[in-house]
Amino acid sequence: MAKATLETYIRQLLECHTGPEVTVAWQGGEPTLMGLDFFRKSVEFVEKYRRPGQQIEYTFQTNGVLLNDEWCAFLKQHDFLAGLSVDGPREIHDRYRVNKGGEGTFEQVMRGWELLRRHDVKVNILCTVHAANQDRGRKVYRFFRDDLRVRHMQFIPIVERSTADLLPLANLGWSERPGGKRLLYTQSGSAVTERTVHPERYGRFLVDIFEEWVRRDVGEVFVQLFDVTLNSYFGRSTLCIHAPTCGNSLALEHNGDLYSCDHYVEPGFRLGNIHETHMSELIASRRQRQFGRDKLDRLTKQCRECEVLALCNGGCPKDRFVPSRDGEIEHNYLCAGLYHFFTHTRPAMRAMASLIQQGRPANEVMPLIAAEDAKRGRNDPCPCASGKKWKQCHGA
Ligand code: SF4
Ligand code: SF4
Repeated sequence: MAKATLETYIRQLLECHTGPEVTVAWQGGEPTLMGLDFFRKSVEFVEKYRRPGQQIEYTFQTNGVLLNDEWCAFLKQHDFLAGLSVDGPREIHDRYRVNKGGEGTFEQVMRGWELLRRHDVKVNILCTVHAANQDRGRKVYRFFRDDLRVRHMQFIPIVERSTADLLPLANLGWSERPGGKRLLYTQSGSAVTERTVHPERYGRFLVDIFEEWVRRDVGEVFVQLFDVTLNSYFGRSTLCIHAPTCGNSLALEHNGDLYSCDHYVEPGFRLGNIHETHMSELIASRRQRQFGRDKLDRLTKQCRECEVLALCNGGCPKDRFVPSRDGEIEHNYLCAGLYHFFTHTRPAMRAMASLIQQGRPANEVMPLIAAEDAKRGRNDPCPCASGKKWKQCHGA
């Protein structure tokens, strides 16, 4: 990104915000590849253009490989929230997170994590859920909680579409450049790559973690989807994916092109260029509003009649490419997993919502669950629905 584009972006971003809080979010590719001077310049531009009273939060998504003391001191100085991409313990992480030579990056990422910790930078772990960790929910969660001592984490399902004929190529991975040796990712087809998470297993992965979290970590460990779901019980949408409409999570490319969403950086979703049209105009454009409303307008009948619609809202439109029960196209690929998660967690979520309504902390749910567990026989089925005995599963 050229300096002129960076300056235009920062200026317009600050001008767009009418409220006091502004998030300046950097994501890639890998943002550290831009070098530290680029981010020093970004902060300078923010200082130059921020209006009195505007509070800035910087976020930064990184794989951690290039972090060093200088980087971490900078992130700390400006109170960045760093999102670190880790997929679990070494054998899981290294399955897909490899360098150009095909070697796992676990070692380097852990070095980055230690540096962030040493400099006391705020960190949120971002874990993608895919074929290599979908059956290891608790193991992954415990690794983050106990080994890394992480307090904030989020789990992102990997869903990679492809057309049936391009699937063998898609399985090799994506190119970042049009005309590269590999495919450029596009939202087309109803096949999925072999890396893609299986819908039911995604639900079980989340439930596996939830059953552990709700027994011992409420109020101590924060899992984004659990917070988002609890907020939904109060009618608050805090994540676009499970909000009724979307369209406020746009993505800017290095040349100033603005796209409808981070997941739709494709020619059909290019809104314009911020050097030609002010970002606020592009965001308010009819096309972008329609993009956001389509999320609601194009729900399938199965979604409209679903008992957890108010929590799920049909999920992210990018994942809607399989037939629904009634044969409508554009139903969510992850539906089975989402349905399992939202129905399974309902009793505990309702209990927490009720506690909060009474002015009590949500973590008082833990003794309630412990009391239920005390009535359970060691050989009874585990309530996580794994099919295993309680003593061999969450009761172990
Ligand atoms: S398409 Fe998905 S990720 Fe993008 S804004 Fe909508 S819900 Fe959010
Ligand atoms: S759980 Fe499935 S049917 Fe229900 S709202 Fe979500 S995607 Fe639609």
